[in-house]
Amino acid sequence: MNTPDDTLWPRKTGRRPPGPTMVEWAYDQILSMLMAMQIAPGARIGIDALARRFDISQTPIREALSQLEVEGLVSKIPNAGYRASPQMTRKELDDLYALRLLIEPGAAALAAERMTEEQLAALSEIQDEMGQVQTGTGIAYARFAEADAMLHHLVALGSDNRPIAETIERLHTHLHIFRFLYATNAPQEAAEEHSRIIAALLARDPEAARSAMYDHLERSLVRTVRASEANEAGQDGDAAAGG
Ligand SMILES: [Zn+2]
Repeated sequence: MNTPDDTLWPRKTGRRPPGPTMVEWAYDQILSMLMAMQIAPGARIGIDALARRFDISQTPIREALSQLEVEGLVSKIPNAGYRASPQMTRKELDDLYALRLLIEPGAAALAAERMTEEQLAALSEIQDEMGQVQTGTGIAYARFAEADAMLHHLVALGSDNRPIAETIERLHTHLHIFRFLYATNAPQEAAEEHSRIIAALLARDPEAARSAMYDHLERSLVRTVRASEANEAGQDGDAAAGG
């Protein structure tokens, strides 16, 4: 995935070597295939097939896959390569949001007090970006999902609390996949909730930031569950965005 600014959205410590490497390139390729569902949940990932597709050796692909395994996006099959992680169950989804509801409102309150001017400026950019991506195309949604992830990461970093930031960061990659699978509508509702969060952070108002984040996550869970159930029922085209 492309990140606009690595200083604002740092890679996990120790996960990747600095600078562009073949492993990093392979990682980005495989990650975007997972996010775009070109590799379906539960599908086998052949190392040899990827090596031929990318026209590179197997070594960087193996390293990229082992990084993705640490992040829970793929799992190793003994003697048989890797498999994409299955889609989240309802229980896993509820558990994930329960944790987010515990952590992210508090992180938003801290961020309202502690965010740097640079981070606040990045928030304003996200606000502008989100205002432009409210049409219902897949690309618009992908851009929205990226801006959404950036917002939640900025809140995590802005909390200036490393355990909190690391916990939030660890949760989000999975959710990306979930969103990409189910999102078919313009994410206007989520964008409005994000606007409230950003406004509270820019105003450096901790309690407003806390409650805006809490409301957003509660509504996001409802939307995501609705989308998940619609998908399980074999419907399509009617699911709201998670955000
Ligand atoms: Zn969001």
